[in-house]
Amino acid sequence: MRPEADVCQSCGIPLGDSASRGTDANGKPSADYCRACYRDGAFTDPTLTSREAMQRAKRQLTHQNLSVSQIEQLVRNVPRLRRWARRSAFLSPERRDTTPPDNV
Ligand SMILES: [Zn+2]
Repeated sequence: MRPEADVCQSCGIPLGDSASRGTDANGKPSADYCRACYRDGAFTDPTLTSREAMQRAKRQLTHQNLSVSQIEQLVRNVPRLRRWARRSAFLSPERRDTTPPDNV
């Protein structure tokens, strides 16, 4: 199983049909995130940490038809997912300060 396969880029659970995917702001199924993590173009839990995401993944994966080693592999991969990997590089990549600071 390739870690970069179709998994939620927040919690690492495998993304199947569009029913398990989150939705973008335009209502289309998200290519990157699951329903539990992402809805209407925003993270359902913006304060979630990668550690919590791992716990969430483990909980969700237990209900799926996966072996223990598969679950462990998916859970271990969580910190490397896009949502968390880029956080270490820069703090808030979505928000670029385009307005100059107010020098009063
Ligand atoms: Zn997810």
